[in-house]
Formats: sequence, C-alpha cells, structure tokens
Amino acid sequence: MSLRIGVDLGGTKIEAIGLGADGSERYRRRVETPRGSYDGTIHAIADLVRAVEHAAGERGTVGIGMPGAVSPATGLVKNANSTWLIGHPLQQDLEAALARPVRLANDANCFALSEASDGAGAGAAVVFGVILGTGVGGGIVVGGEVLGGTNAIAGEWGHNMLPWPDADEWPGPPCYCGRTGCIETFLCGRGLELAYGAGAPAARAIAAAAAGDARASAAIELYGRRLAKALASVINILDPDVVVLGGGLSNIESLYRRVPQLWTAWIFSDRVDTRLARARHGDSSGVRGAAWLWPPA
Ligand SMILES: [Zn+2]
Repeated sequence: MSLRIGVDLGGTKIEAIGLGADGSERYRRRVETPRGSYDGTIHAIADLVRAVEHAAGERGTVGIGMPGAVSPATGLVKNANSTWLIGHPLQQDLEAALARPVRLANDANCFALSEASDGAGAGAAVVFGVILGTGVGGGIVVGGEVLGGTNAIAGEWGHNMLPWPDADEWPGPPCYCGRTGCIETFLCGRGLELAYGAGAPAARAIAAAAAGDARASAAIELYGRRLAKALASVINILDPDVVVLGGGLSNIESLYRRVPQLWTAWIFSDRVDTRLARARHGDSSGVRGAAWLWPPA
C-alpha cells in the first residue's frame, strides 16, 4: 500500500490529499466543514477518503490533523476550538467508519511533522514548528517523529505567559483560556492588530510596514521582539536545531532576519546556532503532515 492519505480537519474546510510513494501530492479534495455536526464531520471525512481512493484506484493509510487532541487517558477529544468535537471518541468512530486504523494528531504537530519530513526542517534532529495565525500553536518533532507527550499537549506554548514582559505587557490582554497575557494574545493576528492600532487588520499592517510606514514598522518590530522572547524560552528548554514558522503572520519577511538578532538577549548560551525558517509547504503543511503520520511504505 503506497498511497498515504492526509486529512486536515479545519474549522471551515476539510481537506484531503493523497501522497504517492515518493511523497509527491497526487490527489486533493476539499469540502466545507459541517460546523456543529459531529456525525456530519465523521461522514464528510469518510467520503473524502473514499473519493481520494477512488481517484487513486487503491486503498491508503489515513492520518488526520485536527484541532485540539485526543486525550490519551479517555480517548475523547479535548482542547478543540471546533467545539462540537469535544468529548467525542473521534478516533474510534473514524476507525469504524473507515474500517481500518487511523492516526490522529494535533494540527500544529502535523505542520511540524510535514516541515521536518520534507520541508524547511528536513534532516534536522529536533524541529519546533510554530503556527502564527488566528491562534498560536506549536509542535515538536524529534528524530522524524512527533513528540506527543503524556497529556498530548507537547509544544502547546501559546497559553504560556509571555516571558520577560515589559511594563506595558503585564498583565496583558485577556485570553479565551481564562488567563491574561498568554503568548497567543500577543502573537496571533489580533495581537499584531492591537500593536498597530487604527483597527486595521494584521495583513494591512504587514503591507504598510513593507511600504515603509513608520507606525506599521514599529508594530512589526514590537511583534518581532515579543516573538523573540517567546521563542527564547522554548529554545532554553528544547534547544531545537530549527524553528519553522507557518500561518499568515509567517509571511512577515523581516522576522527571519530580526528575530535571531533579538533572541540572543534571552537565550542562555554564548552563541546561538538555531535556525529560524519559513515553512516550505505553506498552507499545505498541515494536510501533508497528516499523511506523514504513516511513514512511507
Ligand atoms: Zn490563553
């Protein structure tokens, strides 16, 4: 069986791809997420897998990237912002619907696995993958395998406090998790919007900074400083070979030069050889990483 199917279960769309034996993408299908319907979600995933297999003319392995995680203790979904999944035995129900074992992993873990397998972190021993988008997620890959963790939360740095806060960063904005000053509140798209002000979306701040606007440039500089602090605390614990950025805010070109200049102030080392890299597979990394949950045959 050389066909490897990856499914990215998102809040607005569900996407499936089929990878050939060489890792190249052969098939791609997507549908809208049946928001609010758990049974509808199971059926939509099963239909997508069948559609890819029909096109390929063979059966495949199935890996699924999902928001949140399946609790190792209970087998039930937790921490998902697609809340209709929470409390359901998603893996068990998908295995029944597809009549085979399936592998599930957090979507940020799939992103990290994709970039570690054949992306910006290929060949690196330890990869920290970061998604900077509407939320902030993270995943860790060691020796080509996702580090899941006892509680299935390894790499979930977004709801740690922003370290080494400046006076105006403490206690910080309220977060949906119930605390204040979480890394996510500063580094998500909304965090950049708050730094820029003027009620403008993050994409406009990025474009204005690129065009030389001083206020937008200051907001991007502040964003980079916060990212540097947040990553420094991860590097001090995990010491990854490479940090790979994905998500909409990873398109800020200046981060790859500026953040490594800034982060040395907080990293406990005489020199810092950690690379900061942009995702090679862009928006496709999540669904590719889901397929990579099963190694090549
Ligand atoms: Zn939080």
